Amino acid sequence: MSQKNLSYASEQPDTPWQTYLAQVERVIPLLGELGTLAETLRRPKRALIVDIPIQMDDGSYRHFEGFRVQHSLARGPGKGGVRFHPNVNLEEVMALAAWMTIKNAAVNLPFGGAKGGVRVDPRSLSRRELEKLTRRYTSEIGLIIGPQQDIPAPDVNTDAQIMAWMMDTYSMNSGSAATGVVTGKPIDLGGSLGRVKATGRGLFLTGCDAARRLRLPIPGARLVLQGFGNVGGTAAELFASAGAKVIAVEDDSGAVHNSNGLDIGALQKYRAANGSIRGYAGAEPISTDNFWQLDSEILVLAALEGQLTPARAQALKTRLVLEGANGPTLPAADDILAQRDILVVPDVICNAGGVIVSYFEWVQDFSSYFWSEDEINRRLEQIHVEAFARIWEAAERHGVTLRTAAFLVACERILTARKERGLYP
Ligand code: GLU
Repeated sequence: MSQKNLSYASEQPDTPWQTYLAQVERVIPLLGELGTLAETLRRPKRALIVDIPIQMDDGSYRHFEGFRVQHSLARGPGKGGVRFHPNVNLEEVMALAAWMTIKNAAVNLPFGGAKGGVRVDPRSLSRRELEKLTRRYTSEIGLIIGPQQDIPAPDVNTDAQIMAWMMDTYSMNSGSAATGVVTGKPIDLGGSLGRVKATGRGLFLTGCDAARRLRLPIPGARLVLQGFGNVGGTAAELFASAGAKVIAVEDDSGAVHNSNGLDIGALQKYRAANGSIRGYAGAEPISTDNFWQLDSEILVLAALEGQLTPARAQALKTRLVLEGANGPTLPAADDILAQRDILVVPDVICNAGGVIVSYFEWVQDFSSYFWSEDEINRRLEQIHVEAFARIWEAAERHGVTLRTAAFLVACERILTARKERGLYP
């Protein structure tokens, strides 16, 4: 494979970038003539590494490493979030950018794919330090972002306040109020109604659609959830209000279990007050091993990449896996789940609600005309339902998993755009 001549091509198995490459390989035989252009999918178009020096509250100086990767701009401007996490590295951001290319094409948004990140534990920073870090990072990647070039958004550990600082910094540097440079902003700054809960809502809608096709009723279904941030929390709320029983939740502090169903509102309040779910009185603590072996109908993965390993896939006792995180399932685990007839709704369609409403926000900012929340949720549902139906149909037609079908639909669109644009010069 020509990856060998790329300096960033890691030999390590199971990194996010290797996972993405393995997913691409599976779709190439289905692409026909377009497959000859597939090399473009194996290389990020552009990657920027930036140094972010800031003065800490105690007067000392610290340097942080930041990234912005534009994987593909074939179908439109770059689009994808920014994460602040101690494990962020170039290869991870490359994979996350590539998954955005696939996701945006799978649900047919007029965007390419991009992602950014800073290698930092934001919990170790004061608010002032976090603002300085965000502003300097924005200024450094200002070379390649912009309302028509590449539009960042929230991701792991970033929120509307961070987007407000990013929008302000970019606007100060460009001399105009550039609301369209980021999405996921506060409502007063050109943000969109429905954006905060959009990823969790999209996951819920897609999950209900998949469950219906499996003839799996949501009322009474036992749901196990990994990750209790914005996406996992919203999904849990919506599934619980539709009658599902959320019997276990895991976050980075550990896992809790209650076979009668957890009170999601109470658990959210507990987490907001205590920073994690550890010690929540309405449930029993359980070990990670036991968490992965619980009997359930639905498993929602809303934490980080690489969580569903082959061993865990072998041990799982569930019917439906919904990927709220990006890249949570390793390719070898995917094969085991397919053999075991456990349906996986892949990240690139399951968690696309966030970027779909980001697209609505970007459109609203350009026209300076804002839609009602009902209008947004209605359009979100329409895009999800249509995209899912198309991917389901492709999976049946080719006898492949939903992930390979989603890649197929997406790669056909990306490579057709590539072909029509032609090669410059
Ligand atoms: N970070 C989200 C994702 O992974 C949203 C990206 C966006 O809205 O641009 O899909």
